[in-house]
Amino acid sequence: MPSAPEQLIVHREPRTQVSHSPNCPFCPGNEDQTPEVLRLPNSDGTWRVRVIPNKFAALAREVPPARTIHRSRRTIQGFGVHDVIVETPDHSQSMALMSTATWQTCYAFIRLATMS
Ligand SMILES: [Zn+2]
Repeated sequence: MPSAPEQLIVHREPRTQVSHSPNCPFCPGNEDQTPEVLRLPNSDGTWRVRVIPNKFAALAREVPPARTIHRSRRTIQGFGVHDVIVETPDHSQSMALMSTATWQTCYAFIRLATMS
């Protein structure tokens, strides 16, 4: 039985990174598994960035934005947007490993979409 935290470290083989997973709802080709809020399309009909509703959203668009003010404490009901941004169609990518250009495209798209 381990008695020190470093003894709990388990060596794992690195996962094989795949650029597409047939069961992933965020991968291209599986768009029918999730409703879509927005997309940044490529000229060939594929997409670069997708925005989909969060299945476990903490905020809701349908809640009336009822506000209450009690002395200096102001509150508002759970009105808002809590969507999921699929930054890339490449299943193996993560934000930490994305190219600067990919990240800039995603960020610019989200910025434009939220300003309109
Ligand atoms: Zn995926």
